[in-house]
Amino acid sequence: MPTRPDIAVIGAGCIGLATAEALAERGESVALYESGRPGQGQSAGQGRVFRHAADDPRIVRLAAESRELWRGLEERLGEEMISRDGVLALGEAALGRLATLEEQGISARRIGPDEISERHPLLAGFSGDGVFDEAGGAIRTLGFIRLLSKRLADSFEFDEVIAVRPTGAETVEVRVPGHRAEYSRVIVCAGRGTAQLARGAGLDVPIDLACHIRSTFEVAGEAPDRVACLLDSAGEWGDESVYAAPAPGCDRYSIGLAEVMEVREDGSVVNPAEFAAHEERTIEYAKRALPGLNPQPVEVLHCWATSLPWNEDAFAIWEHEGLLIAGGHNIWKMAPVIGAVLAEAAAGGEVREEMRPEARLGQA
Ligand SMILES: Cc1cc2nc3c(=O)[nH]c(=O)nc-3n(C[C@H](O)[C@H](O)[C@H](O)COP(=O)(O)OP(=O)(O)OC[C@H]3O[C@@H](n4cnc5c(N)ncnc54)[C@H](O)[C@@H]3O)c2cc1C
Repeated sequence: MPTRPDIAVIGAGCIGLATAEALAERGESVALYESGRPGQGQSAGQGRVFRHAADDPRIVRLAAESRELWRGLEERLGEEMISRDGVLALGEAALGRLATLEEQGISARRIGPDEISERHPLLAGFSGDGVFDEAGGAIRTLGFIRLLSKRLADSFEFDEVIAVRPTGAETVEVRVPGHRAEYSRVIVCAGRGTAQLARGAGLDVPIDLACHIRSTFEVAGEAPDRVACLLDSAGEWGDESVYAAPAPGCDRYSIGLAEVMEVREDGSVVNPAEFAAHEERTIEYAKRALPGLNPQPVEVLHCWATSLPWNEDAFAIWEHEGLLIAGGHNIWKMAPVIGAVLAEAAAGGEVREEMRPEARLGQA
């Protein structure tokens, strides 16, 4: 009879997949529980922005560490994981973060209008300066999900975890509809399901839930050879906090407002009409800022977003009697480094101090 794995990971979003992969790389056997399809929670859709910039220098350092791990993944998986087109950031906030990037040895620099239009041929003319993050780029999210799901195929348990519970005998019990199992360590990275599972196990984690919409537009005419990701807080074209990333081949560009929509404690969306309003604002933004796009969206992504109260980039790992509970926001870019840290802790090591909740990672 095959022996039951020692460690369970709950949730096969980018964090669960990266963690299970890191555990498998260490030779650990792992059960990976997923109630839906891998990568269809917050991690859904093609493309996210990999950026180094953040208010907290610890996030900048971790992003640099993660970028190295992304390179290792590219070699192992044989596919590009981060585009080579960089990230262009506009606005005072971006210029203000440049010093921290330089202090941390990130290859980012101030660029003027000519280089801005060269790096971003879809953008309307911009007369100010921007910051170009050379090693940033668009995360090839779909490739990562597809390739890791294939590599981890034997680890999957397609079931909803209803409850986890430390048994008091150095194991953690996992209950799914059809059976129960015990593991020496259980890692919860279940996105919007994390707070519920943690609370059931006796731990309150302050994960806030919100909702988000992102629209994808086609490039009008021939696709450029390269297009940088965009982080725009300049306010020149209306909205003051917009992010955008190109798809592979640069023939599509996905745009979202950083602003999220409010969700009640019971998980219901406070005002569903806001989806249409945000989509309309995104279209208006695309018309003004990105004349190189056809302004009619060809795809829309509605997504939950979890975050911690102290910063939009905050991330933390709680430890509780054999359980490791991970929560945060804007962590696609951090998936390899968070996966490595969770795997290390589950295999008998320690959670890094900066990722413990009391370290308030993300808060400058
Ligand atoms: C539109 C949008 C744009 C974003 N842009 C960026 C960006 O540019 N850069 C960046 O770094 N980040 C970005 N983010 C944030 C990033 O997408 C998330 O931080 C990341 O995807 C979180 O991944 P996760 O694995 O923690 O959660 P999820 O992807 O939500 O994965 C959790 C998984 O757990 C499963 N699950 C839940 N409950 C249970 C249960 N009880 N039993 C079994 N399985 C369960 C779910 O089905 C899901 O598959 C963005 C998010 C959104 C929505």
